Amino acid sequence: MKRIYLDYAATTPTDPLVIEAMKPYFFEKFGNPSSIHSEGQIARKAIEDARQIIASFLGAKPEEIVFTCGGTESNNFALEGVAFANEGRGNHIIISAIEHHAVIEPAKFLEKKGFRLTILGVDKYGLVDPSDVKKAITDKTILISIMHANNEIGTIEPIEEIGKIAREKGIYFHTDAVQTVGHIPVNVDKLNVDLLSLSAHKFYGPKGVGALYIRKGTRIFRFLHGGDQEKGRRASTHNTPGIVGMAKAIQLCKERMVEEMEFQSKLRDFLIRRILENIPDVCLNGHPNLRLPNNVNFSIKYIEGESMILHLDLLGVSASTGSACTSSSLEPSHVLLAIGLSPEVAHGSIRFTLGRWTTEEDINYVCREFPKVVEKLRKLSPLYNK
Ligand SMILES: *Cc1c(COP(=O)(O)O)cnc(C)c1O
Repeated sequence: MKRIYLDYAATTPTDPLVIEAMKPYFFEKFGNPSSIHSEGQIARKAIEDARQIIASFLGAKPEEIVFTCGGTESNNFALEGVAFANEGRGNHIIISAIEHHAVIEPAKFLEKKGFRLTILGVDKYGLVDPSDVKKAITDKTILISIMHANNEIGTIEPIEEIGKIAREKGIYFHTDAVQTVGHIPVNVDKLNVDLLSLSAHKFYGPKGVGALYIRKGTRIFRFLHGGDQEKGRRASTHNTPGIVGMAKAIQLCKERMVEEMEFQSKLRDFLIRRILENIPDVCLNGHPNLRLPNNVNFSIKYIEGESMILHLDLLGVSASTGSACTSSSLEPSHVLLAIGLSPEVAHGSIRFTLGRWTTEEDINYVCREFPKVVEKLRKLSPLYNK
């Protein structure tokens, strides 16, 4: 059976052109970029070329890019690095209630270490209100971290405006842009950010590699201690194939972005319309317009997300409920609760995320089969028959 993968927000396949670009760096060009001999020089050149490509894509300078092992490390690095380096100035940190666990957990860790944490609520669309950020700021605030777009409901946050507020007050501003880099335009100056996290496996690059953009002049401690790689900012031997692959993936996204955004948002809107028309008692989660081009998230009343996922899986369709990282726990997603859904409605959520290899036929198939799955499950549901 042909599989229809609609979980691109969890991870993307590595583009075959990316794999081709990476291949030479496993055997022929395997050198350690820190070595001074020829093998080392070749690897070092590849790393610096990749840094240039990634920096230019973000509107940053090459020396402002630090390579990491992914989005989680970049977020931990940003929060802990800035917090501990600026303890002298203040101890207050602001995040939103819908951040990824890779921001929430380091923030809570810092709270245990004596920092004060404000977690801002969001409206029913998942939007952070910039005036709430302004009100939360005190003379002790040293860092604000608000994600660029949410991984579950796709809402795109007013980062530019929040950045302006942070800049005026001289407070460092970090954004988790793991869901946006490669998918919608991301420019560090336009967004007014000081730090920005990205991860290659969310934009058709390999898993286990990412980067943190750190604006020149930002006071930050290193997160990973060891050798003096990355000008002493991040230890460990460079993942040369991964870094080369990430740069190639960025290049491909840059070339195709306009076209992909247009195609995916067309399919997204078609799928949203068809679900709203053909299934009663559903609500769209996230913002109707300020939304990632590839994200569809619904609450389907009276049934469970997990049952829908398993039934769709048998029909060859991969979707997700809540976030892939939390679906093993029984708690409904913190994002869906933050936008005001009851735990029951939150449990009936389903997310379809589209990507480079999604076709019109794929979406037509889901439009045909998904209402049947819902009908079947509702017939079995005691909540529905009451
Ligand atoms: C996937 C994801 C992360 C984690 O990135 P990894 O590279 O898997 O560690 C962080 N934030 C967001 C918004 C994500 O979607």
